[in-house]
Amino acid sequence: MSYVITPPAPASVPVAGGGAFPVRRIYCVGRNYAEHAQEMGFSGREPPFFFMKPADAVLPVAEGETGVMDYPPLTANLHHEIELVVAIAKGGSGISVADAAGHIWGYAVGLDMTRRDLQGDMKKQGRPWCIAKGFDQSAPIGTIKPLAQTGELKAGEITLAVNGQPRQRGDLSDLIWNVNETIAAISAAWTLQPGDLIFTGTPAGVGAVQRGDVMHGAIAGLGQLTVALR
Ligand code: MN
Repeated sequence: MSYVITPPAPASVPVAGGGAFPVRRIYCVGRNYAEHAQEMGFSGREPPFFFMKPADAVLPVAEGETGVMDYPPLTANLHHEIELVVAIAKGGSGISVADAAGHIWGYAVGLDMTRRDLQGDMKKQGRPWCIAKGFDQSAPIGTIKPLAQTGELKAGEITLAVNGQPRQRGDLSDLIWNVNETIAAISAAWTLQPGDLIFTGTPAGVGAVQRGDVMHGAIAGLGQLTVALR
């Protein structure tokens, strides 16, 4: 079969030690740390819920480099959300919590960039979040490190600073739905496939960034991610 237009190149993320991880889908978990759920006006005890970003929303940032993100249109309130990202190596549906870790290829530090003003408008009107969450370059992500190198990440500090000033701080052990529970819950609704990424939710302290700001995220035992806004 011949394509009638040139097929787009697959989105991918660099991997520590060489090579790249091809991205199929990006799943995201909403309000997965209690303090962040509270700052968004919720109790922190609701079941997990999900949204997606397009695969080509990734903004891959190689180890030691500073990514450059263009300030997106249609917003005056662009927020940072630092998150642990899980890269799926082995697909499946109805994956049990006990089996979930066997589906993980590795992890990365990611940013779920959010046009918070548009998200607020959409929430008020009961409309989808796509325009707030799934815009171009809305998923900056650092080098993926294999689970074989990091071990299972169940605890460790997750932080974000803007221009050197601390903004977000949490611990992976404070996830309401941990990584294995999240994989199980997503695979109950969709068939996970190799190449899927999961943004696991953000700790408290989300806030706005402006053109010229530099965001620096870190997760203990994993790595760092630096992104400049222009
Ligand atoms: Mn998020």
